[in-house]
Amino acid sequence: MDETVRERLIKTLLASKEPLTVYQLQILVETELKPNELYEELEHVKKTLKRLGYRLEMVPAACRKCGYQFTDREKLKKPSRCPRCKSERIEPPKFYVAPLY
Ligand SMILES: [Zn+2]
Repeated sequence: MDETVRERLIKTLLASKEPLTVYQLQILVETELKPNELYEELEHVKKTLKRLGYRLEMVPAACRKCGYQFTDREKLKKPSRCPRCKSERIEPPKFYVAPLY
């Protein structure tokens, strides 16, 4: 059976015991999609998971230089630059699935 990237993302996230970055997901779901495209896919995955009774949770991105955490971000995509120290060395967000209460 041919599964879509979206289906494979959902399966991989549900099966994973630890939060995953889009870079890890890219390898695990064996996709040609670029990280930026995967963030787009994850927006859809988030909606699908909600219908299935789960939440897509995110370990926020953080600045590698000063440790600033992007906790108030609505978007899933990795921020490009730290608002505090202006560093562009950003640790990407990690994603995991939790039950919807
Ligand atoms: Zn910083």
